[in-house]
Amino acid sequence: MSGLRLMAVHAHPDDESSKGAATMARYADEGHEVLVVTLTGGERGDVLNPAMDIPGVVERMNEIRREEMAQAARALGVQQTWLGFIDSGLPEGDPLPPLPEGSFALVPLEESTEALVKVVREFRPHVMITYDENGGYPHPDHIRCHQVSMAAYEAAGKADRFPDAGEPWTVSKLYYTHGFIRRRLELFKEEYDQRGEAFPLQDWIDRWRPEHGDIMARVTTQIQCGKYFANRDEALRAHATQIDPNGVFFAIPLELQRRIWPTEEYELAKTRVKTSIPETDLFAGITDDALAGVRDARETTK
Ligand SMILES: [Zn+2]
Repeated sequence: MSGLRLMAVHAHPDDESSKGAATMARYADEGHEVLVVTLTGGERGDVLNPAMDIPGVVERMNEIRREEMAQAARALGVQQTWLGFIDSGLPEGDPLPPLPEGSFALVPLEESTEALVKVVREFRPHVMITYDENGGYPHPDHIRCHQVSMAAYEAAGKADRFPDAGEPWTVSKLYYTHGFIRRRLELFKEEYDQRGEAFPLQDWIDRWRPEHGDIMARVTTQIQCGKYFANRDEALRAHATQIDPNGVFFAIPLELQRRIWPTEEYELAKTRVKTSIPETDLFAGITDDALAGVRDARETTK
């Protein structure tokens, strides 16, 4: 089947390129519609690439990040839209300072949910992707992204919720994207050990506490997308203020990644269609019948 619709909800520009990017490039290439919804403008991002730490960049950060995002979307072959909230920034210090006034994580959940519901009802995705309850990593905007996505998944199909935000649309499935797989790192390390070479991501292994476990235990769905790793890297590089092209993101050669771990990982968190685990397709279970069923459900809520 082609012509299905996939929506990925992300907190900041660049998150879409580091979490599930190759999956989106694959589905777009295979004739599906893919939309990235970026909740904030990334206004509080620092310049993380030394080559971009030059006069004029910080002053134009907002505009530059929009240009970077457009270029990344082109590299992945996906559509992208902004929800227009303001980056909360990553609070640092002990005790943590309060979040800046007006930032996304402080916007009342009903308000941000209505904004996302509006986009869901316009785009009418069959599948949504977001972060797990921990946000993937503990940035307040990532945690909020999870909360808003879950609320929108529940509300979008209900006619009595946000009646001014468009015609109800029932999303069939919702996934969490999981990037930090310990098993994947270990397999890469074994390869470097066998060659007698230093492992470029040793730092990541060293920082991993046994109590963190491996999120792989929660993975239900692996998507083959090694063919699109180059698109992912091109999208990452497009975010030039955020990603150092000489950094660890690009340390493992693509050939090795494709051979040892050619997939991206997801956890099926919600489904309204029948499917069986493990899955190899985010659209698994979405048949013509299921689509008709979803349409019926939508009609009966009117
Ligand atoms: Zn982020």
